[in-house]
Amino acid sequence: MYKKRCIVTGGAGFIGSALVRLLIKEAEAEVLVVDKLTYAGNLESLKEVDSNPRLKILLADICDQEAMDKAFAEFSPDTIFHLAAESHVDRSIDGPGEFVQTNIVGTATLLQAALKYWKALPDNRKNAFRFQHISTDEVYGTLGEEGLFKETTPYSPHSPYSASKASSDHLVRAWHDTYGLPTLITNCSNNYGPYHFPEKLIPLIIMNCLEMKSLPVYGKGDNIRDWLYVDDHARALLLVNDKGQPGETYNVGGRNERTNLEVVRTVCRIMDELSPADKKREELITFVADRPGHDQRYAIDPTKLEIELGYKPLENFDTGIRKTVKWYLDNEWWWGPIHRGKYAGERLGKG
Ligand code: NAD
Repeated sequence: MYKKRCIVTGGAGFIGSALVRLLIKEAEAEVLVVDKLTYAGNLESLKEVDSNPRLKILLADICDQEAMDKAFAEFSPDTIFHLAAESHVDRSIDGPGEFVQTNIVGTATLLQAALKYWKALPDNRKNAFRFQHISTDEVYGTLGEEGLFKETTPYSPHSPYSASKASSDHLVRAWHDTYGLPTLITNCSNNYGPYHFPEKLIPLIIMNCLEMKSLPVYGKGDNIRDWLYVDDHARALLLVNDKGQPGETYNVGGRNERTNLEVVRTVCRIMDELSPADKKREELITFVADRPGHDQRYAIDPTKLEIELGYKPLENFDTGIRKTVKWYLDNEWWWGPIHRGKYAGERLGKG
């Protein structure tokens, strides 16, 4: 059994909360969530586990050096999973400053806190300590019709979001190469699943389908993403944390490429089946102006993770998307207040 003491930054976000649920329910870990609760953070996403005495929550900014030093000293972690970030490409086009601050300065702050703490650990705990940085395949830029992102693909980010994540990856690698901090980096493809903030494509489309509103598709809808169910990402993170080699990078993906239009049509078909309406949802699809600098295709080669660590996702896109649509239909209590309050589906990031 895993049973480590884990700090999870961004644990009230989409992927962070999935990881915390896994760590508490299946891995018997002790968890300290560090989160400042931006618009994307939501403690309701931790409801399934928030009465568990193994879960503690610290409301703090990862850019606050004193608070991060204190969190390490007092919680005494065996590992940190660093997920706190500004994560939405469209918002990074409208306001890149926060992305630079949290994703780059915040990561550097955490690395300094971790390094100071790690240096003072006794040898057995020092060898076992891991700083795991959770990143994205968007750092590799865009692909044409052929090819896949490998761990050796050169970085070529295009949006303020991906550029800030690329910077943070470089910082993490530098703290390993320069100071010997035992780091791990994972670069994952697009996630989807329960508790996903409704600004992102899949929950936005589900919400608009429910209200029979138009379904905005950027450009021609032919941009390709490689989709991974969020719980499969959380399992990959745990596997890498347990078995990965310090200093290494692992690409995480499920070999599920789809165009955006295919994704939207699939959601429409499942919605028509599970929540029938007067007209077919596909009739609501509306093509809108493309995102500036929209990368054409992302696709992950997860061979290293599969061969070296034995990774295998549990869901494919068809099973995962059905689970996801059903979850949104059954859990209005979670997304309803967000939809009526801080985000009602408006277009972001026109540049
Ligand atoms: P999210 O936006 O849902 O959650 C981010 C969380 O970080 C929120 O809870 C927010 O409150 C917190 N946070 C933001 N700024 C903070 C700060 N300064 N201090 C403390 N907490 C702060 O993001 P997500 O989709 O769960 O992504 C998590 C991580 O995974 C990110 O690093 C992202 O780059 C990476 N990632 C995401 C995807 C994806 O498809 N969503 C894919 C690959 C990698």
